Amino acid sequence: MNRIRIAIQKSGRLSERSLDLLQSCGLRFARSKDKLYWFGQDFPVDLLLVRDDDIPRMLLDGICDLGIVGQNIAQEVVLERDNGNGLDELRRLDFGQCRLSIAIPEQSSIKTITDLNGCRVATSYPALTRSLLSVNGVDADMVKFSGSVEIAPGLGTAEAISDLVSTGTTLRANHLVELEVLFNSTAALYGLPRGLSGEKEDLLNLLLARLDGVLQAAESKYVMLHAPRDAIEEITRLLPGAENPSLMNLEGDEDRVALHAVCREALFWEHLETLKQAGASAILVLPVEKMLA
Ligand code: ATP
Ligand code: ZN
Repeated sequence: MNRIRIAIQKSGRLSERSLDLLQSCGLRFARSKDKLYWFGQDFPVDLLLVRDDDIPRMLLDGICDLGIVGQNIAQEVVLERDNGNGLDELRRLDFGQCRLSIAIPEQSSIKTITDLNGCRVATSYPALTRSLLSVNGVDADMVKFSGSVEIAPGLGTAEAISDLVSTGTTLRANHLVELEVLFNSTAALYGLPRGLSGEKEDLLNLLLARLDGVLQAAESKYVMLHAPRDAIEEITRLLPGAENPSLMNLEGDEDRVALHAVCREALFWEHLETLKQAGASAILVLPVEKMLA
């Protein structure tokens, strides 16, 4: 069957952004809220909605062709399996950012990660934590928790935890402090290193090209401004990631032109302020919805 199956998280932090991303690539699905399988409408790409933890295994077992999941989970499963069967990170995505950190109780005698030698570390990511600690020469015992890891020190089952943090609020609420970041994670699109066969591979390449366009467009901005003729060169240089701009005459103004350009890198207020200092005025910044290079 020449249809591609993509597994995404059914409900949780990655669900909405994963679905949005695929829809931005032009995919539409016949969906029903309680069903786990959404059929692709104009494109032979179907969706499987599952728990995020199941996605790497489903890929490795050939149940789906692609999957969107956090690098934290993909790494954990690959290390846990330890049979040389990796996953191929096809594209890093711009959501699901978090960090896997070691945290300890506020009053702990542990001061550096080397002090964790011989200690118990509670975590939902034992394989990844063990591997990252051993890179630092630390050998600790992993206590596997499938949720609420932050209560482990209070219960006396571990001296430290290794858990995902984004703001640190949960840690503070449990009187824990972050000792060290072990791993920075984002969501990513995964496939298998052996790739796909025949028509599916062509379909994947088409999908990846659209995905690149969407990811690129998310950062890109269309900038319009008025520039003094003698500052065109400097202003173009100040536009982050811009290619050759278009110039247009301004009716009734000999000294200035309208300059339009696509900036492919993030544009901050600081950029606009320096553009203004260089003589630019009437600066407008517009989002770019789609892009095909
Ligand atoms: P499921 O029911 O699918 O197993 P879950 O509770 O394991 O859901 P979520 O809490 O929705 O999963 O997190 C999914 C992913 O989002 C994480 O694996 C991680 O990659 C990412 N993430 C981003 N920020 C955070 C955070 N602050 N805490 C936990 N995960 C985060
Ligand atoms: Zn999960």
